[in-house]
Amino acid sequence: MSEIRIENVTKRFGKFLAVNDISLTVADREFMVLLGPSGCGKTTLLRAIAGLGMADEGRISIGGRDVTYLPARERGISMVFQSYAIFPHMNVFDNIAFGLKMQKLDKAEIENRVRRAAGLLHIEGMLDRFPSKMSGGQRQRVAVARAIAMQSQVLLMDEPLSNLDALLRLEMRAELKRLLAELGATTIYVTHDQIEAMSMGDRIAVMRDGIIEQVDFPTTVYDHPANQFIGGFIGTPPMNFLTGQVQRQGGRTVVRIGDFSLTCSPAMAPILSAYDGKPILAGIRAENMETRASPAEDALRATVLVVEPLGSQNLLTVAFGGHRIKVSTHPSFQTHADAEVWLRFPTDNIRWIDPETKRALYPK
Ligand code: ATP
Repeated sequence: MSEIRIENVTKRFGKFLAVNDISLTVADREFMVLLGPSGCGKTTLLRAIAGLGMADEGRISIGGRDVTYLPARERGISMVFQSYAIFPHMNVFDNIAFGLKMQKLDKAEIENRVRRAAGLLHIEGMLDRFPSKMSGGQRQRVAVARAIAMQSQVLLMDEPLSNLDALLRLEMRAELKRLLAELGATTIYVTHDQIEAMSMGDRIAVMRDGIIEQVDFPTTVYDHPANQFIGGFIGTPPMNFLTGQVQRQGGRTVVRIGDFSLTCSPAMAPILSAYDGKPILAGIRAENMETRASPAEDALRATVLVVEPLGSQNLLTVAFGGHRIKVSTHPSFQTHADAEVWLRFPTDNIRWIDPETKRALYPK
Protein backbone atom coordinates (compact mmCIF):
# COMPACT_ATOMS: atom_id res chain seq x y z
CA MET A 1 0.00 0.00 0.00
CA SER A 2 1.51 3.32 -1.02
CA GLU A 3 -0.90 6.05 -0.08
CA ILE A 4 0.73 9.48 0.01
CA ARG A 5 -0.57 11.70 2.78
CA ILE A 6 0.35 15.38 2.84
CA GLU A 7 -0.77 17.24 5.94
CA ASN A 8 -0.60 21.02 6.36
CA VAL A 9 2.62 21.35 4.37
CA THR A 10 4.07 24.84 4.12
CA LYS A 11 7.21 25.94 2.29
CA ARG A 12 8.63 29.45 2.31
CA PHE A 13 11.41 31.09 0.33
CA GLY A 14 12.35 33.97 2.64
CA LYS A 15 9.04 35.68 3.35
CA PHE A 16 7.40 34.27 0.23
CA LEU A 17 4.89 31.48 0.85
CA ALA A 18 5.35 29.12 -2.10
CA VAL A 19 3.23 26.32 -0.56
CA ASN A 20 0.64 27.47 1.93
CA ASP A 21 -0.69 24.88 4.38
CA ILE A 22 -1.54 22.21 1.80
CA SER A 23 -3.21 18.94 2.71
CA LEU A 24 -3.80 16.24 0.13
CA THR A 25 -4.18 12.46 0.22
CA VAL A 26 -3.28 10.44 -2.86
CA ALA A 27 -4.72 6.94 -2.68
CA ASP A 28 -2.67 3.80 -3.27
CA ARG A 29 -2.20 3.34 -7.06
CA GLU A 30 -3.91 6.63 -7.81
CA PHE A 31 -2.68 8.97 -10.58
CA MET A 32 -2.93 12.46 -9.12
CA VAL A 33 -2.16 15.50 -11.27
CA LEU A 34 -1.02 18.79 -9.76
CA LEU A 35 -2.22 21.41 -12.22
CA GLY A 36 -1.88 25.16 -12.11
CA PRO A 37 -0.35 28.22 -13.73
CA SER A 38 3.38 28.86 -13.71
CA GLY A 39 4.68 29.79 -10.26
CA CYS A 40 1.72 28.41 -8.28
CA GLY A 41 3.93 26.07 -6.23
CA LYS A 42 3.54 22.70 -8.01
CA THR A 43 7.25 21.92 -8.25
CA THR A 44 7.90 23.16 -4.72
CA LEU A 45 5.24 20.81 -3.35
CA LEU A 46 6.55 17.89 -5.42
CA ARG A 47 10.12 18.54 -4.23
CA ALA A 48 8.90 18.56 -0.63
CA ILE A 49 7.24 15.17 -1.18
CA ALA A 50 10.41 13.88 -2.84
CA GLY A 51 12.59 15.11 0.01
CA LEU A 52 14.57 17.46 -2.22
CA GLY A 53 13.39 20.59 -0.43
CA MET A 54 12.27 19.94 3.12
CA ALA A 55 8.87 21.34 4.12
CA ASP A 56 9.04 24.12 6.72
CA GLU A 57 5.88 22.85 8.39
CA GLY A 58 3.56 19.88 8.10
CA ARG A 59 3.92 16.15 7.72
CA ILE A 60 4.32 13.81 4.77
CA SER A 61 3.79 10.07 4.93
CA ILE A 62 4.18 7.45 2.21
CA GLY A 63 2.64 4.02 2.66
CA GLY A 64 1.88 4.82 6.29
CA ARG A 65 5.53 5.71 7.03
CA ASP A 66 6.34 9.24 8.19
CA VAL A 67 8.98 10.48 5.72
CA THR A 68 8.87 14.17 6.69
CA TYR A 69 12.50 14.22 7.82
CA LEU A 70 13.87 11.41 5.66
CA PRO A 71 16.31 12.15 2.81
CA ALA A 72 15.07 11.52 -0.73
CA ARG A 73 16.87 8.19 -1.16
CA GLU A 74 15.08 6.69 1.83
CA ARG A 75 11.58 7.60 0.69
CA GLY A 76 11.14 4.68 -1.75
CA ILE A 77 10.23 6.86 -4.72
CA SER A 78 11.27 7.39 -8.34
CA MET A 79 11.33 10.85 -9.83
CA VAL A 80 11.44 12.55 -13.19
CA PHE A 81 12.07 16.25 -13.18
CA GLN A 82 11.78 18.80 -15.96
CA SER A 83 15.55 19.20 -15.96
CA TYR A 84 15.96 15.46 -16.77
CA ALA A 85 19.12 14.85 -14.76
CA ILE A 86 20.69 12.09 -16.83
CA PHE A 87 24.39 11.30 -16.68
CA PRO A 88 26.29 12.71 -19.69
CA HIS A 89 29.14 10.18 -19.42
CA MET A 90 26.82 7.15 -19.59
CA ASN A 91 25.05 5.79 -22.63
CA VAL A 92 21.27 5.39 -22.64
CA PHE A 93 21.37 1.78 -21.45
CA ASP A 94 23.56 2.61 -18.46
CA ASN A 95 21.49 5.68 -17.63
CA ILE A 96 18.30 3.62 -17.50
CA ALA A 97 20.06 0.78 -15.67
CA PHE A 98 21.72 3.03 -13.08
CA GLY A 99 19.22 2.65 -10.24
CA LEU A 100 18.75 -1.04 -10.97
CA LYS A 101 22.50 -1.68 -10.66
CA MET A 102 22.51 0.24 -7.38
CA GLN A 103 19.81 -2.15 -6.20
CA LYS A 104 22.08 -5.02 -7.25
CA LEU A 105 19.44 -6.71 -9.39
CA ASP A 106 20.67 -9.59 -11.48
CA LYS A 107 21.93 -8.91 -14.99
CA ALA A 108 19.07 -10.56 -16.87
CA GLU A 109 16.47 -8.66 -14.86
CA ILE A 110 18.27 -5.35 -15.51
CA GLU A 111 18.51 -6.09 -19.24
CA ASN A 112 14.84 -7.01 -19.31
CA ARG A 113 13.63 -3.92 -17.49
CA VAL A 114 15.85 -1.52 -19.46
CA ARG A 115 14.71 -2.91 -22.81
CA ARG A 116 11.06 -2.84 -21.81
CA ALA A 117 11.19 0.75 -20.51
CA ALA A 118 13.18 1.89 -23.55
CA GLY A 119 10.68 0.19 -25.86
CA LEU A 120 7.77 1.93 -24.21
CA LEU A 121 9.47 5.28 -24.62
CA HIS A 122 10.50 4.52 -28.23
CA ILE A 123 14.23 4.81 -27.55
CA GLU A 124 15.10 1.13 -27.88
CA GLY A 125 17.23 1.92 -30.94
CA MET A 126 19.38 4.41 -28.98
CA LEU A 127 20.64 2.31 -26.08
CA ASP A 128 24.30 2.79 -27.11
CA ARG A 129 24.00 6.51 -27.63
CA PHE A 130 25.34 9.20 -25.30
CA PRO A 131 23.11 12.09 -24.15
CA SER A 132 25.18 14.72 -25.99
CA LYS A 133 24.09 13.11 -29.26
CA MET A 134 20.38 13.26 -28.42
CA SER A 135 17.66 15.89 -28.64
CA GLY A 136 16.05 17.36 -25.52
CA GLY A 137 12.93 15.27 -26.07
CA GLN A 138 14.97 12.08 -26.41
CA ARG A 139 16.90 12.84 -23.22
CA GLN A 140 13.67 13.48 -21.41
CA ARG A 141 12.43 10.07 -22.49
CA VAL A 142 15.59 8.49 -21.07
CA ALA A 143 14.78 10.11 -17.72
CA VAL A 144 11.20 8.78 -17.85
CA ALA A 145 12.43 5.30 -18.84
CA ARG A 146 14.90 5.30 -15.95
CA ALA A 147 12.16 6.16 -13.45
CA ILE A 148 9.78 3.56 -14.86
CA ALA A 149 12.41 0.80 -14.91
CA MET A 150 12.77 1.18 -11.14
CA GLN A 151 9.19 -0.08 -10.72
CA SER A 152 8.89 1.93 -7.51
CA GLN A 153 5.62 2.03 -5.63
CA VAL A 154 5.63 5.82 -5.87
CA LEU A 155 6.44 7.92 -8.92
CA LEU A 156 6.81 11.68 -8.85
CA MET A 157 6.92 13.39 -12.24
CA ASP A 158 7.41 17.07 -13.00
CA GLU A 159 6.40 18.00 -16.55
CA PRO A 160 8.02 14.82 -17.92
CA LEU A 161 6.70 15.40 -21.44
CA SER A 162 7.47 19.12 -21.71
CA ASN A 163 10.28 18.76 -24.25
CA LEU A 164 8.46 16.51 -26.68
CA ASP A 165 6.88 17.78 -29.86
CA ALA A 166 3.08 17.97 -29.93
CA LEU A 167 2.49 14.67 -31.72
CA LEU A 168 4.87 12.63 -29.61
CA ARG A 169 3.50 14.24 -26.48
CA LEU A 170 0.01 13.14 -27.45
CA GLU A 171 1.20 9.59 -28.04
CA MET A 172 3.36 9.48 -24.90
CA ARG A 173 0.65 10.69 -22.58
CA ALA A 174 -1.59 7.77 -23.59
CA GLU A 175 1.34 5.31 -23.37
CA LEU A 176 2.39 6.61 -19.96
CA LYS A 177 -1.14 6.45 -18.65
CA ARG A 178 -1.49 2.84 -19.74
CA LEU A 179 1.92 1.90 -18.43
CA LEU A 180 1.49 3.52 -15.03
CA ALA A 181 -1.88 1.85 -14.59
CA GLU A 182 -0.19 -1.45 -15.38
CA LEU A 183 2.67 -0.81 -12.93
CA GLY A 184 0.15 0.15 -10.26
CA ALA A 185 2.39 2.89 -8.90
CA THR A 186 0.97 5.77 -6.89
CA THR A 187 1.81 8.76 -9.08
CA ILE A 188 1.92 12.51 -8.59
CA TYR A 189 2.33 14.25 -11.92
CA VAL A 190 2.94 17.98 -12.27
CA THR A 191 1.81 19.85 -15.37
CA HIS A 192 0.52 23.26 -16.37
CA ASP A 193 -1.12 21.70 -19.42
CA GLN A 194 -4.78 21.30 -18.58
CA ILE A 195 -5.47 18.90 -21.45
CA GLU A 196 -2.69 16.62 -20.25
CA ALA A 197 -4.14 16.85 -16.72
CA MET A 198 -7.65 16.02 -17.89
CA SER A 199 -6.52 13.14 -20.07
CA MET A 200 -4.15 11.47 -17.61
CA GLY A 201 -5.31 12.09 -14.06
CA ASP A 202 -7.57 9.88 -11.97
CA ARG A 203 -8.01 13.12 -10.04
CA ILE A 204 -6.69 16.64 -10.50
CA ALA A 205 -5.57 19.01 -7.75
CA VAL A 206 -5.83 22.53 -9.16
CA MET A 207 -3.34 24.90 -7.52
CA ARG A 208 -3.07 28.67 -7.42
CA ASP A 209 -0.80 30.91 -5.33
CA GLY A 210 0.46 28.11 -3.10
CA ILE A 211 -2.90 26.57 -2.26
CA ILE A 212 -5.08 23.81 -3.71
CA GLU A 213 -8.33 25.28 -5.02
CA GLN A 214 -10.09 22.01 -5.90
CA VAL A 215 -9.32 18.29 -5.92
CA ASP A 216 -11.66 16.15 -7.96
CA PHE A 217 -12.21 13.91 -10.95
CA PRO A 218 -11.32 15.57 -14.27
CA THR A 219 -14.93 15.73 -15.45
CA THR A 220 -16.07 17.21 -12.14
CA VAL A 221 -13.39 19.90 -12.22
CA TYR A 222 -14.45 20.68 -15.79
CA ASP A 223 -18.22 20.57 -15.32
CA HIS A 224 -18.46 21.84 -11.75
CA PRO A 225 -15.51 24.15 -11.15
CA ALA A 226 -15.28 25.35 -7.55
CA ASN A 227 -14.70 28.93 -8.64
CA GLN A 228 -14.26 31.34 -11.52
CA PHE A 229 -10.50 30.82 -11.70
CA ILE A 230 -10.87 27.08 -12.34
CA GLY A 231 -13.65 27.55 -14.92
CA GLY A 232 -11.40 30.06 -16.68
CA PHE A 233 -8.23 27.94 -16.40
CA ILE A 234 -9.60 24.57 -17.51
CA GLY A 235 -11.06 24.07 -20.95
CA THR A 236 -10.15 25.19 -24.45
CA PRO A 237 -11.64 27.70 -24.84
CA PRO A 238 -12.11 28.63 -21.18
CA MET A 239 -15.57 29.03 -19.70
CA ASN A 240 -17.44 32.19 -20.75
CA PHE A 241 -18.55 34.55 -17.97
CA LEU A 242 -21.49 36.95 -18.26
CA THR A 243 -22.52 39.47 -15.63
CA GLY A 244 -26.25 39.61 -14.96
CA GLN A 245 -28.64 40.79 -12.29
CA VAL A 246 -30.90 38.55 -10.24
CA GLN A 247 -34.60 39.45 -10.28
CA ARG A 248 -37.47 37.72 -8.58
CA GLN A 249 -40.51 37.88 -10.87
CA GLY A 250 -43.66 36.47 -9.36
CA GLY A 251 -42.68 33.00 -8.19
CA ARG A 252 -39.71 32.82 -10.56
CA THR A 253 -36.10 33.81 -10.16
CA VAL A 254 -34.46 35.05 -13.35
CA VAL A 255 -31.15 36.63 -14.23
CA ARG A 256 -31.30 39.65 -16.52
CA ILE A 257 -28.48 40.12 -18.97
CA GLY A 258 -29.35 43.35 -20.77
CA ASP A 259 -32.89 42.78 -22.03
CA PHE A 260 -32.50 39.01 -22.05
CA SER A 261 -33.57 36.78 -19.18
CA LEU A 262 -31.86 33.55 -18.15
CA THR A 263 -34.03 31.26 -16.08
CA CYS A 264 -32.36 29.35 -13.30
CA SER A 265 -33.03 25.71 -12.52
CA PRO A 266 -35.46 24.83 -9.70
CA ALA A 267 -32.52 23.54 -7.63
CA MET A 268 -30.69 26.87 -7.94
CA ALA A 269 -33.71 29.18 -7.45
CA PRO A 270 -33.54 29.25 -3.63
CA ILE A 271 -29.81 30.00 -3.75
CA LEU A 272 -30.08 32.74 -6.38
CA SER A 273 -33.12 34.34 -4.76
CA ALA A 274 -30.81 35.44 -1.94
CA TYR A 275 -29.09 37.63 -4.56
CA ASP A 276 -32.34 39.44 -5.50
CA GLY A 277 -31.46 42.82 -7.07
CA LYS A 278 -27.74 42.03 -6.97
CA PRO A 279 -25.25 41.11 -9.66
CA ILE A 280 -24.30 37.51 -10.39
CA LEU A 281 -21.90 35.83 -12.80
CA ALA A 282 -23.15 33.20 -15.21
CA GLY A 283 -20.47 30.77 -16.39
CA ILE A 284 -21.14 28.72 -19.51
CA ARG A 285 -18.93 26.61 -21.70
CA ALA A 286 -18.71 27.13 -25.46
CA GLU A 287 -20.17 23.69 -26.21
CA ASN A 288 -23.05 24.09 -23.78
CA MET A 289 -25.09 26.60 -25.77
CA GLU A 290 -27.41 25.81 -28.66
CA THR A 291 -26.78 27.92 -31.72
CA ARG A 292 -29.41 28.55 -34.40
CA ALA A 293 -29.19 30.41 -37.67
CA SER A 294 -32.73 31.82 -37.32
CA PRO A 295 -34.77 33.33 -34.46
CA ALA A 296 -36.02 30.87 -31.86
CA GLU A 297 -38.04 31.13 -28.67
CA ASP A 298 -35.98 32.02 -25.59
CA ALA A 299 -32.96 32.64 -27.79
CA LEU A 300 -30.60 35.58 -27.60
CA ARG A 301 -29.58 37.36 -30.78
CA ALA A 302 -25.84 37.77 -31.26
CA THR A 303 -23.52 38.90 -34.03
CA VAL A 304 -20.75 36.64 -35.27
CA LEU A 305 -17.35 38.32 -35.11
CA VAL A 306 -15.04 35.44 -36.01
CA VAL A 307 -15.52 31.90 -37.30
CA GLU A 308 -12.74 29.38 -36.56
CA PRO A 309 -13.34 26.11 -38.42
CA LEU A 310 -11.40 23.63 -36.27
CA GLY A 311 -12.43 20.46 -38.06
CA SER A 312 -14.33 18.71 -35.27
CA GLN A 313 -16.19 21.93 -34.44
CA ASN A 314 -16.62 25.52 -35.52
CA LEU A 315 -15.62 27.96 -32.83
CA LEU A 316 -17.51 31.23 -33.10
CA THR A 317 -16.70 34.46 -31.32
CA VAL A 318 -20.00 36.29 -30.95
CA ALA A 319 -21.02 39.62 -29.46
CA PHE A 320 -24.21 40.91 -27.87
CA GLY A 321 -24.96 43.89 -25.61
CA GLY A 322 -21.34 44.61 -24.74
CA HIS A 323 -20.52 40.93 -24.11
CA ARG A 324 -18.21 38.80 -26.21
CA ILE A 325 -18.22 35.00 -25.85
CA LYS A 326 -17.05 31.83 -27.59
CA VAL A 327 -19.60 29.37 -28.86
CA SER A 328 -18.92 25.96 -30.32
CA THR A 329 -21.08 24.56 -33.11
CA HIS A 330 -21.19 21.43 -35.22
CA PRO A 331 -18.73 21.80 -38.13
CA SER A 332 -21.63 21.71 -40.57
CA PHE A 333 -23.18 24.86 -39.04
CA GLN A 334 -23.08 27.51 -41.75
CA THR A 335 -22.33 31.09 -40.75
CA HIS A 336 -19.85 33.88 -41.39
CA ALA A 337 -18.47 37.04 -39.80
CA ASP A 338 -21.18 39.75 -39.38
CA ALA A 339 -23.99 37.18 -39.61
CA GLU A 340 -26.61 36.95 -36.86
CA VAL A 341 -27.09 33.82 -34.75
CA TRP A 342 -29.50 32.95 -31.94
CA LEU A 343 -28.23 31.34 -28.76
CA ARG A 344 -30.10 29.25 -26.25
CA PHE A 345 -28.70 28.65 -22.77
CA PRO A 346 -29.94 25.33 -21.35
CA THR A 347 -30.56 26.06 -17.68
CA ASP A 348 -28.68 23.07 -16.33
CA ASN A 349 -25.52 24.07 -18.20
CA ILE A 350 -25.09 27.41 -16.46
CA ARG A 351 -22.76 27.70 -13.47
CA TRP A 352 -23.59 30.58 -11.12
CA ILE A 353 -20.78 32.44 -9.45
CA ASP A 354 -20.78 34.97 -6.62
CA PRO A 355 -19.10 38.05 -8.14
CA GLU A 356 -17.47 38.99 -4.83
CA THR A 357 -16.08 35.69 -3.57
CA LYS A 358 -15.75 34.29 -7.14
CA ARG A 359 -16.93 30.96 -5.73
CA ALA A 360 -19.37 28.86 -7.74
CA LEU A 361 -22.78 28.29 -6.15
CA TYR A 362 -24.15 24.75 -6.06
CA PRO A 363 -27.16 23.18 -4.39
CA LYS A 364 -26.22 21.28 -1.23
P1 ATP B 1 6.28 26.23 -13.18
O1 ATP B 1 5.07 25.60 -13.81
O2 ATP B 1 6.66 27.52 -13.85
O3 ATP B 1 7.42 25.27 -13.00
P2 ATP B 1 5.47 25.94 -10.38
O4 ATP B 1 4.01 25.97 -10.13
O5 ATP B 1 6.12 24.60 -10.39
O6 ATP B 1 5.82 26.73 -11.70
P3 ATP B 1 7.36 26.57 -8.30
O7 ATP B 1 8.59 26.26 -9.10
O8 ATP B 1 6.94 25.63 -7.26
O9 ATP B 1 6.13 26.86 -9.27
O10 ATP B 1 7.57 28.00 -7.65
C1 ATP B 1 6.60 28.57 -6.80
C2 ATP B 1 7.05 29.96 -6.40
O11 ATP B 1 8.20 29.87 -5.56
C3 ATP B 1 7.45 30.82 -7.59
O12 ATP B 1 6.96 32.13 -7.36
C4 ATP B 1 8.95 30.78 -7.58
O13 ATP B 1 9.48 31.98 -8.09
C5 ATP B 1 9.27 30.61 -6.10
N1 ATP B 1 10.51 29.83 -5.92
C6 ATP B 1 10.71 28.56 -6.32
N2 ATP B 1 11.95 28.14 -5.95
C7 ATP B 1 12.54 29.18 -5.30
C8 ATP B 1 13.80 29.37 -4.68
N3 ATP B 1 14.72 28.40 -4.64
N4 ATP B 1 14.05 30.58 -4.12
C9 ATP B 1 13.11 31.55 -4.13
N5 ATP B 1 11.88 31.44 -4.70
C10 ATP B 1 11.60 30.26 -5.28
